[in-house]
Order: sequence, then structure tokens, then C-alpha cells
Amino acid sequence: MKTQQKAPIKTFRLKKNDTVQIIAGRDKGKLGKILEINKEKGRVYVEGINYLTYCERPTQQNPKGSISKKEGSVSVSNMLLYCPKCDKGVRIGNKKTAEGLKNRVCTICGDII
Ligand SMILES: [Zn+2]
Repeated sequence: MKTQQKAPIKTFRLKKNDTVQIIAGRDKGKLGKILEINKEKGRVYVEGINYLTYCERPTQQNPKGSISKKEGSVSVSNMLLYCPKCDKGVRIGNKKTAEGLKNRVCTICGDII
């Protein structure tokens, strides 16, 4: 039996520096800027979202130890691209321009994002 392989890359419409709204999980409703995208895993690193706290063990260089914070990744299915006109996360459609270029448009207001 053939197993259908998922192809997340084809449907990946988000880009680095896009502003997204988180729609699920601990940071639901928050906005953030995309720092990094892992297309293979479908994970996105968003500024200020899903902070993970690391406790670093005391070492000789750092005898007290420390707590550092780092962004964790968020699944791409837990976010929507933010539309400034609609003031919320929206689904994205594609629209071809006269030059044949693809533009990402907001499916609600039709604006190019
Ligand atoms: Zn919109």
C-alpha cells in the first residue's frame, strides 16, 4: 500500500520577517515576527513566542549558573499571517499580478500582504 507523503514545502506561504498571529497553545493571540523557518519540520521560530527557559548548570567559568531564555519553535499550523487591515491573523490566498507574479493576499479583505 502506498503511503501518501506530506509536502509541507508546497503549502509553505510564510516567509522570514512576516508578522504572524499565534492561534493555538500557550501564546494564543500573540503577534510576533518570524525569525527562522524550518521547512522540513514545519516549525517556525517566532520572536517572543514560546520562550523556553534553560537553567544552565554552574561551571567554573560561571559558578552561579544562570537562566537563559530562548525562543522555541511553533508548528506552522498554529499560526496565521497577520493582516494589518483586518487586525488579525488571516488565511492567505494567491493572486497573480499582470506581470504573472504571485502575490499573497488576505482572503478576507483581499489586500496584498
Ligand atoms: Zn485582511
